[in-house]
Amino acid sequence: TVGAVAVDHTGNVACATSTGGIRNKMVGRVGDSPIIGSGGYADNFSGAVSCTGHGESILKVTLARLILSHIEQGKSVADATQLSLQYMGDRVQGAGGAIVVSPSGQWAATFNTERMAWAALENDVLWYGLEPNERLKEQL
Ligand code: ASP
Repeated sequence: TVGAVAVDHTGNVACATSTGGIRNKMVGRVGDSPIIGSGGYADNFSGAVSCTGHGESILKVTLARLILSHIEQGKSVADATQLSLQYMGDRVQGAGGAIVVSPSGQWAATFNTERMAWAALENDVLWYGLEPNERLKEQL
């Protein structure tokens, strides 16, 4: 999956999610990526999300919308994302990850898979990582 989320200076958010699907997929399989609320969701009230991982699990918990509904209920972006991935793991034994940005520019790149390549551009700082808890920083 290649996903992106963005926020502009007025707080408009957007998401995009693209995928080749999973290995050995059935002919005709539609994964989570094109399903609004599962592979992605964007709402100026709460934020934008793009998801990756086991599509069937992401669909079962509607992961993108789940993350935003935790934000709506007052959780931080980081907590909402962590909590939702934890829930997907517990409830349907699903592994995946999500990138999230709020209208105020809070963001998270969180996963319960072994690795997830991610990067975030915030003003003139590039944040990026691959392994769990890896958060590298480069001033541009
Ligand atoms: N979520 C995608 C799918 O299940 C796979 C991926 O994230 O690469 O189709």
